[in-house]
Amino acid sequence: METGKLLYEGKAKKMYETSDPDILLIEYKNSLTAFNAQKKAEMEGKGRYNTLISAWLFSYLAEKGIPSHFLKRLDDTHQLVKKVQILPIEVVVRNITTGTLCRRLGVTEGMKLPRPLVEFYLKDDALGDPLITEDHALLFGWAKQDEIDSIKRTSLAVNEILQDLFLSKGIVLVDFKLEFGRDSSGNVLLADEISPDTCRFWDSQTGKSLDKDRFRKDLGDVLGAYREIWKRLSGKEE
Ligand code: ADP
Ligand code: UDP
Repeated sequence: METGKLLYEGKAKKMYETSDPDILLIEYKNSLTAFNAQKKAEMEGKGRYNTLISAWLFSYLAEKGIPSHFLKRLDDTHQLVKKVQILPIEVVVRNITTGTLCRRLGVTEGMKLPRPLVEFYLKDDALGDPLITEDHALLFGWAKQDEIDSIKRTSLAVNEILQDLFLSKGIVLVDFKLEFGRDSSGNVLLADEISPDTCRFWDSQTGKSLDKDRFRKDLGDVLGAYREIWKRLSGKEE
């Protein structure tokens, strides 16, 4: 498939047109950003691990009955996906308290929640992705009621599947962010990526962070954590 025009360059990925109007080519970059891109770095190899991990997880979810935009991994940094119209909502699912939840609400860090917490954020970098309610999404037309119901249901199902998967690999799934979009038939589909950039993973034994928190908090060996996630999922050393 020929690579077409660059449609969009974001913080972590580039999106290209292809010869098929319904299919996009994603290129995963080595850029790392945190705190709404106030902290930035380049990390050789990061794009490759996110490509591999995200493709692996979307394929696994498809096997478990959760379809997504993911079609095919082409090489170490490129994937083909179904083009969707992304809903301007970032869905965060949390199993353990940490991050902005603790900063915003003053709740204790590291508490296991009695059930998963689902939060919606407006996808708007200029506003710093503010927390919103379902009613905001409905009243301002960011999503319809049936879409909200569907993305909530799917987000919780993804959480159950990935929690079990990661636990079997000695990893606690602390929280993660999902994005959804409408495909050409108007169906809501899971999209974007699922990777150590968008999830928090803690080693079950040691509690060690194996995700972008190593970058956010200057914990060191960021790439080693991404490699470890890939190794535990795939059994591959590199
Ligand atoms: P950001 O825009 O936050 O900097 P990225 O660098 O990851 O993020 O850019 C990828 C962009 O592509 C995001 O805005 C994401 O919502 C969007 N996107 C992800 N999957 C699809 C898809 N299947 N179709 C259209 N856009 C997508
Ligand atoms: N997250 C993300 N993109 C964002 C904001 C959050 O992928 O723009 C992920 C983040 O990696 C974590 C979860 O969503 O797994 C919850 O993040 P939190 O709200 O604690 O914010 P952060 O500490 O990432 O700013």
